[in-house]
Amino acid sequence: MSHTPRDLSHLQPSDRAEVLAQALPYIRRYHGKTMVIKYGGNAMTDPELQAAFAEDVVLLKLVGINPVVVHGGGPQIETLLKRLGKEGRFVQGMRVTDAETMEVVEWVLAGEVQQDIVGLINRAGGKAVGLTGRDGAMIRARKLRMVDLNDPSVEHDIGQVGDIVSIDPSVVRALQDDQFIPVVSPIGFGERNESYNINADVVAAKLATVLQAEKLLMLTNIRGVLDKQGQLLPELTPRRVDELVADGTISGGMIPKIAGALDAAKSGVKAVHIIDGRVPHAILLEVLGDQPFGTMIRSH
Ligand code: ADP
Ligand code: MG
Repeated sequence: MSHTPRDLSHLQPSDRAEVLAQALPYIRRYHGKTMVIKYGGNAMTDPELQAAFAEDVVLLKLVGINPVVVHGGGPQIETLLKRLGKEGRFVQGMRVTDAETMEVVEWVLAGEVQQDIVGLINRAGGKAVGLTGRDGAMIRARKLRMVDLNDPSVEHDIGQVGDIVSIDPSVVRALQDDQFIPVVSPIGFGERNESYNINADVVAAKLATVLQAEKLLMLTNIRGVLDKQGQLLPELTPRRVDELVADGTISGGMIPKIAGALDAAKSGVKAVHIIDGRVPHAILLEVLGDQPFGTMIRSH
């Protein structure tokens, strides 16, 4: 697949009409449905990819589909931590979050990154509204108890990393119904109003479940889930995922991503895809394409 955008400015009006007409069955199928989009990786930092992403989201909204964006921000958090002389550390794909790191996570995600995305979507003609899990009392969380994948008797203390207790999506629904595009930062709050850093893939997956989304698209910085030989796996069953995690083929940030994807698929989200966010218009390609793109996660 070519990664360079083609110049189609020479398209005749009749071609343009034909292209749009061909999209009609897909638009009809998804009209009024919710799509949760996890926005992460390179698609978030490359200006050309950013613009294409914003266009896709706005286009979905304008044809009557309800996109909900959940964003990550690993690289941006890493940059600020470095400037402050702190080293990021990960356990099983999750960022170890001490109190100081939590402050940085909140500044970066709920401040800079969220507002950049809101601005990007607005510039493309949409009306985006930024939210954290605290807004509308949306994401209740508690400290995540992380059990070692290889030795269940070992528990890792990774600080203020959150486990989702519940999601109340009413604020998202209210915004959706009123033409807005929600942009959610993955921060939850606890019983004492303390903040939790939650993996964005996990938030996107759970939000897709509670919203009963038609689709969950996870944009990442790789073609999809790869096997040991580095070949793309177009489809994955829960059993195959277990094998790939157990033998270490799936590691790092792909662990929470695939776990979230699988949860969503098993909980009734009809289509769950991990797709290559480095491809311009990855979202439209997936929604309007009939060729397999990235990795589809099956519920059984
Ligand atoms: P993001 O959450 O922004 O999409 P992450 O770095 O958290 O990015 O997760 C994606 C990364 O997971 C990939 O870039 C890759 O390095 C890693 N990874 C680990 N195992 C696999 C695998 N089997 N297939 C694809 N990517 C994998
Ligand atoms: Mg990640």
